[in-house]
Amino acid sequence: AQSLMAGKRGLIMGVANDRSIAWGVAQACAAQGARLAFTYQGEQLAKRVRPLAESVSADLVAECDVTDAGSLDALFAEVKEKWGGLDFLVHAIAYSDKDQLKGRYLETTPENFARTLQVSCYSFTAVCQRAVPLMSAGGSILTLTYYGAERVMPHYNVMGVAKAALEASVRYLATDLGPENIRVNAISAGPIRTLAASGIGDFRFILKWNELNSPLRRNVTIEQVGNAGLYLLSDLGAGVTGEVHHVDSGYHTVGMVAVDAARQ
Ligand code: NAD
Repeated sequence: AQSLMAGKRGLIMGVANDRSIAWGVAQACAAQGARLAFTYQGEQLAKRVRPLAESVSADLVAECDVTDAGSLDALFAEVKEKWGGLDFLVHAIAYSDKDQLKGRYLETTPENFARTLQVSCYSFTAVCQRAVPLMSAGGSILTLTYYGAERVMPHYNVMGVAKAALEASVRYLATDLGPENIRVNAISAGPIRTLAASGIGDFRFILKWNELNSPLRRNVTIEQVGNAGLYLLSDLGAGVTGEVHHVDSGYHTVGMVAVDAARQ
């Protein structure tokens, strides 16, 4: 059966390559019959994103830089022209200067603070502003966050502050858009080796730590995040909005793991 997303049109923002979390969500939705559109940031990524989009028979592939209002306006005009409406949207976009994703948060500069919050947090609101007019029949919007929003994680620094603001945005947007039957949720994913993650200091150690200390004793995959995304984006999640759903092998529940497990 391929019926969960039959007839639904979804815009996927944030695929860089086949390891991207957005790609995991896109594949799960495509397997259930969704029609997809993709964006990429800059011509360099176009050559990676186009073949992936073609492999799921995407209707539209367009460049979009979320810091550029004109670029966002052009994208949503194109989506409107192609489909006339939109049923779901995935925002899987974040950026910070990688020199500030190591060492102390204290050292964050005003320029990088503003840039990080703009790309990683405000852009979610900016895309919602433009998606909502296309969702006249209701819709579901999803963003990606990380546990560093809730608790201090080494090196996550200003990105943790941005994710905290992003998670608060999810709640405000869900409240604004509930009356229009538009749901807004986030998935808090465990660490996954992606292009964005490669900018975070000691990422290999963070992966290993999560593997040893999470209840499931393993890291998550983009397929697992994709399937949870499918639930939130499809009618299976019809009763869920304003939620930050952890897909992290249970890591967020652990205060301290048993000593024998941590020593493995
Ligand atoms: P990724 O590098 O595959 O994706 C990040 C995307 O952000 C890229 O496609 C990049 O082009 C895009 N982007 C950055 N600046 C942009 C801009 N100005 N305009 C348009 N696009 C822009 O890495 P990923 O890990 O799949 O990241 C996706 C999301 O998942 C991010 O929000 C990230 O913070 C979040 N996340 C990642 C992890 C992890 O461990 N990888 C864990 C939890 C949450």
